[in-house]
Amino acid sequence: MNREAHREKGLVFSIQRYSTEDGPGIRTTVFMKGCPLRCLWCHNPEGQEFLPRIAFNSSRCIGCKGCVDACPQGAINFTADGPRTDRGKCQNCGKCADVCPTGARELIGKYMTADEAFSEVERDILFYRNSGGGVTVGGGEPTAQPRFLVEFLKKCHEQGIHTALDTSGYVEWGEMEEILKHVDLVLYDIKQIDPAKHADYTGVSNELILENARRISSKGIPMIIRAPVIPGYTDGEDNIRDIMEFVSVLESVAKVDLLPFHRLGEPKYKKLDRNYEFECAQPPTDAHMQKLKRLVESFGLQTKVISK
Ligand code: SF4
Ligand code: SF4
Repeated sequence: MNREAHREKGLVFSIQRYSTEDGPGIRTTVFMKGCPLRCLWCHNPEGQEFLPRIAFNSSRCIGCKGCVDACPQGAINFTADGPRTDRGKCQNCGKCADVCPTGARELIGKYMTADEAFSEVERDILFYRNSGGGVTVGGGEPTAQPRFLVEFLKKCHEQGIHTALDTSGYVEWGEMEEILKHVDLVLYDIKQIDPAKHADYTGVSNELILENARRISSKGIPMIIRAPVIPGYTDGEDNIRDIMEFVSVLESVAKVDLLPFHRLGEPKYKKLDRNYEFECAQPPTDAHMQKLKRLVESFGLQTKVISK
């Protein structure tokens, strides 16, 4: 499961400043690239693979053909609709992105040392202090790069920065335990209690995930549970009730965030030349979200509907 054994650096695909939905206060969120799950509804598809990947935004392309000439693999074909990438030939070297004058081509994913990542987040340290915020690591799945993560989180703690880990929980316990030494808050995704359905929707069983949730709670580390509300998959009252029955006995759970489905990920699939399976899906209604919120509250848990 350790995919970074061969390197010292972490693969990061985005660093977002001034985030207010990834834990308390004002935060910087570091998104790590690579995830062992394949949630059907993933809204960060650019975070799934464990390697950098070229993306193309057609709305920015001015048709200069610079990328065609720059590609050493001959992977870009200029058509009436603009440049098209043969993904079978592309080596994701990023040379086309280097010459693209408009940013239409972009290499997603950058290898960074923990020092480099820390120097990015350190600049907002005063915001964190004044707002009760800090740094959140998400993804992708950050725990899939444990060596980088431990080093990075340790640096945050050494400077007194509050740290939050946004995770699916799908990681061997030994690795999670090392990471948790440097984590103040865990944002923990629970999508489905039934293991067979979980495997259908995400590609993996949830047994390890549920076991890790119990273990984190027994260590007393504050947790916020995050439940995605996906039409036709996880939006039923039965599913939310099952999750709450599991969660309500975990002592360190401070709150439950309900995450309604949205389609903000759709353009990202297009940029990666991937099919988007949720084209016809609609976000849950406010009335349905309020019903689920009341259901969560009936278990004596605080909850919030997060809209992104
Ligand atoms: S990333 Fe490299 S190989 Fe892929 S299309 Fe661009 S230049 Fe060609
Ligand atoms: S280099 Fe950029 S702007 Fe020029 S054709 Fe290629 S994608 Fe379009």
